[in-house]
Amino acid sequence: MLGEDPDWHSLDPYQRTMTREEFVEALETIYLPYGFDEELIQVFPGYALIRKNNHQPDEMYRIDFLAWRDPVDEPTHDRRSDSSPLKGLVVAIDPGHIGGEFSEMERRHFQVGLDAPVKEGDLTLVVARKLETRLKSLGAKPVLLRQKNEPVTDSRPEDFYHEAVAIEQQFWMEKNGFSSQVTPWGTEWFKQRVQERMEMLFYRVSEIQARADLINNKIRPDLTLAVHFNVSPWKESTRQVHPEENHVHVLVNGTYMAAELALDDVRLQLFKKLLSRNHEQEIPLSDAVAASLLKKTGLPAFSYGGKNASKQGETPAVWARNLLANRLYDGPVVFLEAYCTNSEAAYERLQVDDYQGVRDIGGEMRMSLTSEYAEGILEGLIDYYRQER
Ligand SMILES: [Zn+2]
Repeated sequence: MLGEDPDWHSLDPYQRTMTREEFVEALETIYLPYGFDEELIQVFPGYALIRKNNHQPDEMYRIDFLAWRDPVDEPTHDRRSDSSPLKGLVVAIDPGHIGGEFSEMERRHFQVGLDAPVKEGDLTLVVARKLETRLKSLGAKPVLLRQKNEPVTDSRPEDFYHEAVAIEQQFWMEKNGFSSQVTPWGTEWFKQRVQERMEMLFYRVSEIQARADLINNKIRPDLTLAVHFNVSPWKESTRQVHPEENHVHVLVNGTYMAAELALDDVRLQLFKKLLSRNHEQEIPLSDAVAASLLKKTGLPAFSYGGKNASKQGETPAVWARNLLANRLYDGPVVFLEAYCTNSEAAYERLQVDDYQGVRDIGGEMRMSLTSEYAEGILEGLIDYYRQER
């Protein structure tokens, strides 16, 4: 939705850069671990064919494999003693969602009793600011994608009225048959569908595209940290009784679903990620941050049950999912989902005014929740770059 026409020539620089073995392994274990439609992708001994355009099913893009990779000597220098492993690193920090007056529209908002509402977009900005300060102090160059609880995109829901009507009419026709004489276009029900679609195109699609544009064309960071909080399922419809579930996970790009792979632009983006070897950095980086967060928060790792995700990396907390953000953002993205803000334990900590240092929380000396989150991420980055740079 709202995507651009795919330019398959953008894959040309990757011709003969990857062996068949590397290509197939990444495809089968990270990007399409549950199989794929062979009408769309065909792998031969020396090359692969990928369908370019669903309107011209026979037009295939051909990517040639590297025949042989010369063994490369791994750099052996040990930089563990380096006191500032993050020095000079350009880090884009994406405070997930918008928050502020948009939190209800983007469905990242809840309120228990007369307590202050919890807005994911406000909390992610708090963590992002703390990360920014700490990264700067370690010589890195952090750049926040937003400084306020306001959208990055200049568009607003009303701008997508015509797209929203077209999409909803199409959906209705597909569901009810194209021959139907009685259409609901004038009903309140349909107007509501259009309203929700306009909002979704604004806060989910246009907003993420605007952030991708900043990352890909302005900041061009070494890595992006996408900061999010989770919410565990409420036990009752009034959303007043806190569930106990509280956990951590970190997402990397992968596990494209069949319906996603069937879209021309998404298919191209998959191969851009794969051929650029994005996973070779994104997964170990996410793994280091996940390990650090598990330790710092003391929380268990979240586990997916369905085929929309697959387990990656070494720690139990890293999963591959195809999200708009980790697909559109160029370069490695560490997509963080720590704490369920509505869980009993996290909610209680979030109700306390933010503080410096540590305090007694249920018998344990702990930082404020947002500081602990930022610190957990930071320590993971230090662990990774101490060994890699
Ligand atoms: Zn989120």
